[in-house]
Amino acid sequence: MVVTNVGMVFFPHGDLHVVRTGTPPLKVSFHTQDFDDTKPDRYQLGEVTKDCVFDFFAPHKPVGQRFDGLPSINPATGIVTPKDPGVFLFQVRWGEVYLVGRLQVHEGIDAWWFGNDSITTALDSEFGHAQPSLYARFTDDATGVDRIGDITGHGYVTLTPDDPAKLKIAPQGRVQGLAETTDPAVPTGIKGNFLGVTNSLPVRVVDYGKTRQNLQPVQTPDVAQADGMVNILFIPEGFQDTDTDRAAFDLIVAGTVRDLFDKPRHQPYAMLEAGFNIFKAYLPSRDHYLTCGFRITDDDFNKAKPIPFNGRLGSEKTSYTMQELVAVVGLPMHNESRFDLVTIWQGQSLKGFEPSRVDPKLIAAWRAHEAVGILHARDTVFGMYLGQRPGDRTSGNSKPPVKPPALGDTTHVDLSAFVARLYEFYSPDATRLLTPDPRRNPPERYSAGRENPGAALPRYFGGSQYAFAPFHPIGKNWVPDTTKFTPSRGLVAMICYEDVDGGTNFDGTATAQTMGSVRTVAFTYADVVDKREMRRRDPLTGVPPTAAAVLEIANTVAHEFGHSFNLGDEYEDFEGDGTAATATGDLTDDNLSVLGFLRDPGSPAPGRLIDPAKVKWLDLHRMLLSAKITAPARPAGGAITVTIDPRYSGKWVQAQRDGAEIWLRNFSITKDGVQLPLAKGQGELLTGLKIGTIDTTAGKITLSGVVSPLAEYRAGSFLYIPLKAPDGGLVSVVDKKVKESLFLTKTPLNRDTVFGKVRKEDDEPVDITGFAPPCNSSKTVGVFEGGGTFSGGHYRPAGSCKMRNHYGTANVWTEISQDAGAFCYVCKWLIVNRVDPSYHAILSAAFYPGEL
Ligand SMILES: [Zn+2]
Repeated sequence: MVVTNVGMVFFPHGDLHVVRTGTPPLKVSFHTQDFDDTKPDRYQLGEVTKDCVFDFFAPHKPVGQRFDGLPSINPATGIVTPKDPGVFLFQVRWGEVYLVGRLQVHEGIDAWWFGNDSITTALDSEFGHAQPSLYARFTDDATGVDRIGDITGHGYVTLTPDDPAKLKIAPQGRVQGLAETTDPAVPTGIKGNFLGVTNSLPVRVVDYGKTRQNLQPVQTPDVAQADGMVNILFIPEGFQDTDTDRAAFDLIVAGTVRDLFDKPRHQPYAMLEAGFNIFKAYLPSRDHYLTCGFRITDDDFNKAKPIPFNGRLGSEKTSYTMQELVAVVGLPMHNESRFDLVTIWQGQSLKGFEPSRVDPKLIAAWRAHEAVGILHARDTVFGMYLGQRPGDRTSGNSKPPVKPPALGDTTHVDLSAFVARLYEFYSPDATRLLTPDPRRNPPERYSAGRENPGAALPRYFGGSQYAFAPFHPIGKNWVPDTTKFTPSRGLVAMICYEDVDGGTNFDGTATAQTMGSVRTVAFTYADVVDKREMRRRDPLTGVPPTAAAVLEIANTVAHEFGHSFNLGDEYEDFEGDGTAATATGDLTDDNLSVLGFLRDPGSPAPGRLIDPAKVKWLDLHRMLLSAKITAPARPAGGAITVTIDPRYSGKWVQAQRDGAEIWLRNFSITKDGVQLPLAKGQGELLTGLKIGTIDTTAGKITLSGVVSPLAEYRAGSFLYIPLKAPDGGLVSVVDKKVKESLFLTKTPLNRDTVFGKVRKEDDEPVDITGFAPPCNSSKTVGVFEGGGTFSGGHYRPAGSCKMRNHYGTANVWTEISQDAGAFCYVCKWLIVNRVDPSYHAILSAAFYPGEL
């Protein structure tokens, strides 16, 4: 038994509301989330509140008074005691672990309601899944507190099930499903009571894990042998149980598959088509659209902006984006009326505040960057959400811990460090992030970034079978497994009925993608006078998916599936190196590396020269002939008999006549899908083999000259004839002249050498003596700096790649060639190597950018 801490959980959430009179006391708690490998379907929560320290700060009070009138939390009981009304930020510290949050102290509370019209929860005999949102209206206190707030899990509202045989209220107000809702038209429900008001909420219980014969074929070359194939699944989220929605989903799936597997710009998918089974399954939702975690502004019913808005709202090009400004100065007070904000911000010891990046238009937009009301959640079947609620905080680590300054609210380096720590609250996850909603996935079953076999989505996969007899249990191929490599893991595309742009490859489980690309939200107030309940409007309904939308989805799915093949992002979002310059190990992404690992021993830190010999993709072979072995093969007596697809054994008969030297590469991949560096152990690569006999009917080839300590070569291993130059030297994915240049200069190939600034464009290489670059020189394979979302310190194989820009619009030349947003040659090589290495020779001949 091995128990590991996988995260921390703060209850009720990190955006608290207490009221000086009128509610029961608020109790908070901090827990470790622990994983015991003998019970992989769950996490254990261990409370550590009594060992925590709570630090408060009043960001809106005048400088000099920001540590006055603070609320407090008793670690022994977790009870919050308010003092002055107003907005407070806090930090919970447990050793070096910390979490930041916000606490608003109100004078009074006068209304509450459910933030859902209905909710779907999971059948689970042990844990509650769905947590209905509870919202409240507070008195108008003129202290900058919000009028409307999220009191979910606060314990103010008493929840009771309508039928205790069907539902149970679990801790934190989560609703546990005890009996499946068989007819969605007849839901069960819960009631909430508080302030003398009782509200009702319909609840439907889904048995995610039950057996379903739901996997419809889209194109399935080999269903019977699905476990040995790479399988792709399309599922809907936010599509309703109507013919129109089913037709829209089918249209999107058909169009995406056609794009993905027919268009040259998505190669090598088309080339490898016979290696993929593609299925779709339909599980309807109650509602269209996804829940938004972020709050939105209410200045424009058609184009409400997510808070904080990731876009320019100022008048100057050099001005902060709203998101950047909020990260530095925080959010406005409700009814913000302070004058001369720049002077105020300059005096607040804010980290990195630059007055020159603020203009009057931006300040006016900042003042209006709030709303009275709060959006209702949507009731979708898998419970995905966009962005993050302000209170959905994850913990961080800091060594040493950041503590309140000993000198209090006086200008001092300790004060600015403390303010910067608490203002981390104002940097939530990006609004286009699309992940499982923590209000649908309980911490006992779900932890972000992990396999979570007990959570609803993996359980749904586990029960899914082929729709026709003999109902092969194919769904298990998509259940993430901690113990072994699974070839179909993560190749699930969840198409979300949503017009706001969003998409994420999450937990190594699936990629979720919205249908639209707008950055604002259309909404309406349920009651325009009362202005508290905001509802999404439905601009997509009645509009069939457009060809442009399908094109976008295919572009994105092609990129996101790249992540499931262990390819990292090659684009740049942030200035600088991140932590790359001090990293000691390499990145696990097969197409990325970092300065700390690659740095040339002759140029110690902060030197930026690299040692090309450490680049894991530098010596990948190009091949003249290649074939995957389709069954495990065991060496014996200096020989090994391998089985290949007999349809192609003729090529090897000719190779035998030519007396060709054959190489054999064992299929070696970690359980997490990491391929590089290629395994170097004895026997992993056999060279100098000769073909003895060939049974062309059975596809059996006996190779001689085998000396290997390996007992077995796995299915997926491959034999090949390496491509050699006229001088007999091996040809690798990096041209010989490029390689020579890299070893000479120890410098990446980028022509543009400004690595401190984000660059979105493809990169051209410098001129290299004796090297003729491909027509589109950005396809040159070597080492380019910029990637892994950072402008510097991260390295990638080529100037352009689908993992850098999956639209490819930056390069006019590639548009003409139907090759826009294509994978770079190394990423293509890695996908081929994993799905079907028989295609290495074709890849080399057809797609190598350059000569030979
Ligand atoms: Zn690439």
